[in-house]
Amino acid sequence: MKTLRLILGDQLNSKHSWFKGNQSNYVYCMFEMRQETDYVKHHVQKIIGFFAAMRSFSKELENKNCQVVYYTLNNTQNTQNLTQNIQQIIDKLNIKKFEYQLPDEYRLDQQLANFCKTLPFNYQAFNTEHFYTNRNDLALFFKDKKQWIMESFYREMRKKHDILLVANQQPEGGKWNYDKSNRNKWKENSNIPKFKAFKNDVSEIKKLLDKQDIKTLGHFKSKYFEYPINRKQALEQLKYFCEHLLIHFGDYQDAMHTEEVYLFHSRLSFAMNCKIISPKAIVTTVLNYWRKHGENINISQVEGFIRQIIGWREYMRGMYWALMPEYKTLNFLENSNTLPNFFWTGKTKMNCLKNAINNSLNNGYAHHIQRLMITGNFALLTQINPDEVDAWYLGVYVDAIEWVQLPNTRGMSQFADGGKIATKPYVSSGSYINKMSNYCDDCYYNKKEKIGDNACPFNSLYWNFLDDKREQLSNNFRMKMMYSLLNKIQPEDLHKIKTRAYNIIKNPDNY
Ligand code: FAD
Ligand code: SF4
Repeated sequence: MKTLRLILGDQLNSKHSWFKGNQSNYVYCMFEMRQETDYVKHHVQKIIGFFAAMRSFSKELENKNCQVVYYTLNNTQNTQNLTQNIQQIIDKLNIKKFEYQLPDEYRLDQQLANFCKTLPFNYQAFNTEHFYTNRNDLALFFKDKKQWIMESFYREMRKKHDILLVANQQPEGGKWNYDKSNRNKWKENSNIPKFKAFKNDVSEIKKLLDKQDIKTLGHFKSKYFEYPINRKQALEQLKYFCEHLLIHFGDYQDAMHTEEVYLFHSRLSFAMNCKIISPKAIVTTVLNYWRKHGENINISQVEGFIRQIIGWREYMRGMYWALMPEYKTLNFLENSNTLPNFFWTGKTKMNCLKNAINNSLNNGYAHHIQRLMITGNFALLTQINPDEVDAWYLGVYVDAIEWVQLPNTRGMSQFADGGKIATKPYVSSGSYINKMSNYCDDCYYNKKEKIGDNACPFNSLYWNFLDDKREQLSNNFRMKMMYSLLNKIQPEDLHKIKTRAYNIIKNPDNY
C-alpha cells in the first residue's frame, strides 16, 4: 500500500521532514499545468523559473531514490488540472493514502481541501516547515488589538527567536529599527559588484511554452534563467550577498538608479518563495557571517535585511491568512480606472516609470521602492481599479505568489484595505522620486512644475488625489499635514492642477 505525496511548484523544500527516512512507501507527484500557467498572465521568466526549479527538484528527489511522477506540460497523461491529475495517479497506482503540504495560496488551499472531502481513504495535510510562523500566529498575536502594526510583530519575532538581542531582551546596538539610516540616494559613490547571474539553460522549457501557446508577458532575451533554481545555487547567491552586498544593503535599500537594476538587493525572493531556501537559513547565515567577518559592516545593514525577512515577509503572510478571502475584494478608495497600456510595454516619457517598468519586463524584477513608490504610486494616484493592479503585480514578478503579492499590492501599495496594513497611503509627488533616484535628471518632464505641458505628472496627480479622496483620507491623523498644505493652495491654482491631473488620468498613455 502506497501513500501519494503532492509537491506544489512552490514547495521545493529539500529539508522537509518528508524526505527523511525510508522512502519506499511513498510516491511523490509534481505537475506543470495550464491551471497554473493560465490563472493570470505571468511573466515568461516566471513560468520558466518555476518549471526549471521544479524539474531540478524532481531530479534531486530521484537521486535520493524517491519515486516521482512528474508531468511536464506536454505529457499526454496531463489533464492540466491539479485534482484531476492527483485522482488519475491514485487510480493508476492503487494509492491508499494522500498527503500534501499546506498551500500558501488560498485558491489552492480550497481546491485541495474540497478534493480531500471526496476521498474514500485517509489524507493528511502537513506544515511546509518553511516559515518562522504558522498561518494563524499573527492573528493570534494581534487578537484584541485595534491596529496590526508590523513593528510590534517584528519586535516580538526578534524576542521569540532571539535575533539581534542583548541582555534582558533588549535590541543589540540600542535600537530596534534603523530604518531612518536606510534612506540614502545612490550617488555612484562606491562600486556595486556585478550581480551574480546563474547560467540555467532553459531553452527547452521556453520552446515548450511557445509550442503550447502559453500567453505570457515580459521579455526573455537570453537562454539562461539567472536566479537560483536549486538549493546549491541559492546558497551561492546568499554567500555572494553576505560577502559583497550586505555591507551597503541598508544604506541604499530605497535608492533607485537608471544604470542599476539590483543595487545591493539580495535577489533571493524567488528562491525563498519556491522554498528552495528557508528564511531561517538566510537569517542564520547572515548573522553568522556578520559576527565572524563583519567588522566593517554596520548593524543597520544587518538589521535592515533581517527586518525584511522575519518582519515584513512573515507579517504579510499572517495578514493574508487573517484577511482572506474578503481581502481580495476590498476597494476602500473606490478606484475604477484602467491600467495604462505602458505598464505592458514600458513606452512612456516618464523616466521613472519607464525604468521601473522596463526592469520588470526585462528581468521579472523591481525592488521594493520601485514597486511601491514608482509603479504603485502612479497606479494609486491615477486611481486604477485594484483588481487590475493586482493582476499586473501577480503576473510580472518572478517572485509573485498571491500570499505575498496581494497584501503588498492591495494593502501596502493601493490602500484598498483602508489602512489595515499601511497607516497612510504611499503616494508622493515628483520630489520624493527625485530625492531617491537619478530618474528626474534626464526626464522629459520638469520635476519642479505642477502645471504646464512639461510639468512632472506626479505633481498634479498628487494634489488631485488628495482632493479627490478627502472624504476617505482627510481624517487620517498621518495625512493631516498634507491636507493642511492642500488647503493652502488657492482655488484657481487647484483648478489648474486638477485639470492637468484629469487629462493625465484620461489619457495616461499620452504622457
Ligand atoms: P531584498 O530587498 O534583498 O529583501 C530581502 C528579502 O526580504 C526579499 O527577498 C523578501 O523575501 C523579503 N521582503 C522584503 N520586503 C518584503 C515585503 N514587503 N513583503 C514580503 N517580503 C519582503 N515580494 C515577493 O516576494 N513577492 C511579491 O509578489 C511581492 N510583491 C510586491 C508588491 C509591491 C507593490 C511591493 C511594494 C512589494 C512587493 N514585494 C513582493 C516585496 C519586495 O518588493 C520583494 O520581496 C523584493 O523586491 C524582492 O527582491 P530581493 O529578493 O532582492 O529583496
Ligand atoms: Fe518621474 Fe516626474 Fe521625475 Fe520624470 S520628473 S522622472 S515623471 S518624477
